[in-house]
Amino acid sequence: MERTPPWLTRVGAFAFLTFLLLFVLLGRLWNLQIVRGEEFYARSRATYVREVRMEAPRGNILDRKGRALATSRTAFNIIIVPGKDSLVPMLSPKLAKLLGVPEEEIRRRAGGKALPYMPIYVAEDVDISTLTKVEEHRPDLPGVEIETAPRRFYPYGQTSAHLIGYIGEVSKEELRRLKSDGYRPGDWIGKIGVERSYDRYLRGRPGRRLVMVDAYGRTVRILGVDPPKPGANVYLTIDLDLQRSAEEALKGRRGAFVALDPGSGAVLCMASSPSFDPNLFARRIRPEEWRRIIGNPAHPLQNRAVGASAPPGSAFKIITAAAGLYYGAITPQTVIHCPGGCYVGRRFFRCWRRHGAVNLVKAIRESCDTYFYQVALRVGPERLAKMARMFGLGERTGIDIPGEVRGLVPDPRWKRRRLKEPWFGGETANFGIGQGFLKVTPLQMALVAAAVANGGKVLRPFVVGKVVDERGKVIYKAKPKVKRRLPLAPWMLEVIRRGMFEVCNLPG
Ligand SMILES: [Zn+2]
Repeated sequence: MERTPPWLTRVGAFAFLTFLLLFVLLGRLWNLQIVRGEEFYARSRATYVREVRMEAPRGNILDRKGRALATSRTAFNIIIVPGKDSLVPMLSPKLAKLLGVPEEEIRRRAGGKALPYMPIYVAEDVDISTLTKVEEHRPDLPGVEIETAPRRFYPYGQTSAHLIGYIGEVSKEELRRLKSDGYRPGDWIGKIGVERSYDRYLRGRPGRRLVMVDAYGRTVRILGVDPPKPGANVYLTIDLDLQRSAEEALKGRRGAFVALDPGSGAVLCMASSPSFDPNLFARRIRPEEWRRIIGNPAHPLQNRAVGASAPPGSAFKIITAAAGLYYGAITPQTVIHCPGGCYVGRRFFRCWRRHGAVNLVKAIRESCDTYFYQVALRVGPERLAKMARMFGLGERTGIDIPGEVRGLVPDPRWKRRRLKEPWFGGETANFGIGQGFLKVTPLQMALVAAAVANGGKVLRPFVVGKVVDERGKVIYKAKPKVKRRLPLAPWMLEVIRRGMFEVCNLPG
């Protein structure tokens, strides 16, 4: 009998081993494919029903001629779907490379998530090339989706920014305060201006999409759609052309300008300088950008037309004149001599020039301080304050945008209480020319002028004329409101108007 060569034995052993290994492997495979295959198949096919929120496009804000000052456009956001935040460590290096942002930025965004069912916004409003890159790499990016969402856009940038306002993510405080209005975390809400005061019309109602997603969060099937209801369009009473020329005139200065229709109180123009670009707030604003705006000493977010008050100066002479006539301290024929100022007690109060003999019309026309010092002293500070309050100073006008201040109408009682000091005669004289403690907003003074022009009606001003829903139905219309009728006789207003008219129309 031939001996089996040892190499063959080795080969045989090797073959046997190999066979054994193969058998084990096959066995495992059999186990995997046949025995547990059902389970794997089931898991890969496992689907979950998920509700996806669909943002409602926010309504437009338009000027009185229908030009859109605030509108919405479609933006593409890269998100990590809710519940997939465990994938962040794996995804962030890949996404960082694709999007060209630091990894820490992605981790920071993931960490700042408000609630477990909210998506993580990795990048917002990305451009087409980024979108394409992400789309190409989708198989490597489980849990990453591209979301299309409407995004706020202000075509005119800084124009009318204070009036229009801006939007931002709803805060915890707002959620608490507006609980009954159906706001949810992650919602956008108007923060200032018309965006805020008309938010209930502008925001619309979000829709829902019921989708079936697989284990990787990919949408398999859409089960049902409850479409969002778009927000309504808000038409301002503002004229964009007027607004832009006022802003041009204010450029580089701090100040405000208001013009209104004296018949209705509709605001035609309301400009405040310096301004800001509300587009900065249309996405989640970066902390350093926010700090730069807030830290600016010129307070660009403040609407100076309603939110800042200061002594009005000569414009107040209208009220001093009205008080003089109403309380009988002067008549239109009363002549006061202006030698370039006058003494009150021992102090000399200057006029800006020597006016000589001055009656009421000339005093208004030439803005003679001496005349109004004298009228104020004859009327007294209490009655001057009373007339100022009748004209609406010292109270909010009730305009339909937030952030309004009251200003201040001082009188001796106020001074005793606040400053623990008596009132001096010189203060009465200063009061008469709109100086001293008196503080008014530009809007309040515009209403004073309007009341003189319209026969003594103190109006409630408004900036929104109407609101129109997506089907074109008018769902809100401004109703002009007379807050108060001044007790001034028509002839009194007529004399004041003549003086004001001559300011503008006489040479010199
Ligand atoms: Zn004078």
